[in-house]
Amino acid sequence: KQTELKEADPFPSRPSRPLLVVVSAPSGAGKSTLCNRLVDEFPNIKYSVSCTTRNPRGDEKDGVHYYFLSKKEFKERIKQGEFLEHAKVHGNFYGTLEDTVLYAMEEGFHVLLDIDVQGARQIREALVRLDPRHPIRRGFTDVFISPPSMEELEKRLRGRETDEDSVIQKRLENAKSEMVCATEYSFQLVNDDLEKAYHELKTVILSAVGLA
Ligand code: 5GP
Repeated sequence: KQTELKEADPFPSRPSRPLLVVVSAPSGAGKSTLCNRLVDEFPNIKYSVSCTTRNPRGDEKDGVHYYFLSKKEFKERIKQGEFLEHAKVHGNFYGTLEDTVLYAMEEGFHVLLDIDVQGARQIREALVRLDPRHPIRRGFTDVFISPPSMEELEKRLRGRETDEDSVIQKRLENAKSEMVCATEYSFQLVNDDLEKAYHELKTVILSAVGLA
């Protein structure tokens, strides 16, 4: 009986070796736009939905953009050891539940973590600490996205018109300290041109899954 040989799918809808991708950037660098485009283009890349204690902005929905938790609930989950990483960012708590990442990887998705520099550091530390068979040890990469300049960053943050001046000031201060951490990442790109930055991000991800 003749065996039918199927041509290998270069980007199968359920990758056999899921990749964990950490993307960090100061807020306003265009990270969300770039990452949204990536998950739109590749249905096998999925966002990990984080937990946060900050209030929802605009039309953000619980369970879709974030799991919005009270401080008490968040602390309880820290105590139970449920977070793969967690950090205080701009005065609020944010964290990635280990189960969120594991379920998505077990389902065969590449998982995208949009987290800050402290969280990224914790994930890198976890890579060393975790069992070598843990899915996140089997495929990992991290990318830092910088704005073209601090002036441009401030302009973008003010253009959002969703945050008060004090919040913007805090985010700018934070941006300065985050930019210093860019070299900790395997890949760094500057978002001075959206198309160029997206092309670079895509190339990084495709090369990490072994396709570029
Ligand atoms: P925003 O409040 O604008 O949605 O996010 C603020 C910052 O928190 C961003 O830099 C974002 O990457 C970071 N962030 C979002 N979720 C997480 C998370 O689960 N862990 C950590 N460490 N940072 C997060």
